[in-house]
Amino acid sequence: MAESASPNGRSGRIPRTDTLLADPRLAAPVRRLGTDHVKRAIHDVQARIHRGALRSDAAVDAVLAGLPATPTSLRSVLNATGVILHTNLGRAPLSRAAMDAAVACAGSVDLEIDLETGRRGERGGGVLGALRAAVPTAEAAHVVNNGAAALLLCSAALATGREVIVSRGELVEIGDGFRLPELIEAAGARVREVGTTNRTTIDDYRRAISPETGIVLKIHPSNFIVSGYTESVSVAELRGLGTPVVFDIGSGLLAPDPRLPAEPDARTAMADGATVVTASCDKLLGGPQGGVVLGSAATVRHIRRHPMARALRIDKLRLAALEATLTGPITPTRQSIDIDPDVLCRRAQAIVSTLAVQGTAAQVRTSVAAIGGGAAPGIQLDSYAVALPGRYAAPLRTGKPSVVGRVEHDTCLLDLRGIPAEHDEFLIEAIVSVSRAG
Ligand SMILES: *Cc1c(COP(=O)(O)O)cnc(C)c1O
Repeated sequence: MAESASPNGRSGRIPRTDTLLADPRLAAPVRRLGTDHVKRAIHDVQARIHRGALRSDAAVDAVLAGLPATPTSLRSVLNATGVILHTNLGRAPLSRAAMDAAVACAGSVDLEIDLETGRRGERGGGVLGALRAAVPTAEAAHVVNNGAAALLLCSAALATGREVIVSRGELVEIGDGFRLPELIEAAGARVREVGTTNRTTIDDYRRAISPETGIVLKIHPSNFIVSGYTESVSVAELRGLGTPVVFDIGSGLLAPDPRLPAEPDARTAMADGATVVTASCDKLLGGPQGGVVLGSAATVRHIRRHPMARALRIDKLRLAALEATLTGPITPTRQSIDIDPDVLCRRAQAIVSTLAVQGTAAQVRTSVAAIGGGAAPGIQLDSYAVALPGRYAAPLRTGKPSVVGRVEHDTCLLDLRGIPAEHDEFLIEAIVSVSRAG
């Protein structure tokens, strides 16, 4: 075996990069990941041999163990935070059906071609049909990059150079410093605030309407609650003003959900007389990032022909995943919301028992989970967590698989509500490997 000239005491000589790259066991990883990723793993292994931390005859095995699962720096994690739609963890996890659909459409697809005639076809026709079927009260649908894009496009198409009338109780910051009134202004519309933080009446809107008015905008305050002495105006009342009413329902519930009574839904909003409804696709809808625009055929046609629509459009991978989310089996988000706490309790007990057998002490704790991601802020979901000492939190995050929990009073709590039952074995594996590493 060719080796570099650098001597290395007990661990042997450091194998050369090209020697390792030529090893037949690394041929498949090179094809799968590309040379750069394999070289990076090789360099790490060479450094370990140089430090005397690894024997040179174990180099290839160590390179194989150090390879990333995929050639992306994004790492898949187990969401044990107890926040089901965690924005920092990519919000809604896709269903298996949605993942399969995205993978199946990753190559060349009939995105904008009618294979029967060979002529240009409607982009995303399948998704639009699925949306119309899910929201029969809407004549037409359009899909864009995300919920913010849906609102931006509607403001641009319906109110550029004019006023958007909005209640002071609905001037929402959606996160990371992004504020919806600023987004509306970025579309070239002027925000005309009416009412107060806690109370806005139909007369407030009526007094603000003028020839300058483009739209009346109702925004669902999706990530906070105003309670006490409050009043807001329903879509059914706003439609009587004779101005187009755009309702940003936020979290993308398409039909009423008895478990989430405070959450507006697209079907009801359209039936109540909204001209346009906008929503996000990766919150309660449980799909990929995206934004839906629903409305009358004429209004949606006008919106989708706006020049900005081209800049905000969504790609084939997400169209495929969204269609599978709308027409396929129940989403992981829905499962996490619906699961019975007793089931979570039994899973937590089983995990703790398995850990005990493997020599790791953990406890079952009650926990309170939230929907998160700017959806249903008032809802608390009873849950169960596996409790470990606080020092587990950091190595669990960087471990394989990575587990993100939360730390309370120096205890690392791994809430099971956001974790599919079939991933419990990976959770156990991750805990055991941290525990063994000391
Ligand atoms: C989340 C949210 C948005 C933004 O949607 P994204 O898909 O995150 O861009 C806009 N409006 C409301 C009311 C929301 O809750």
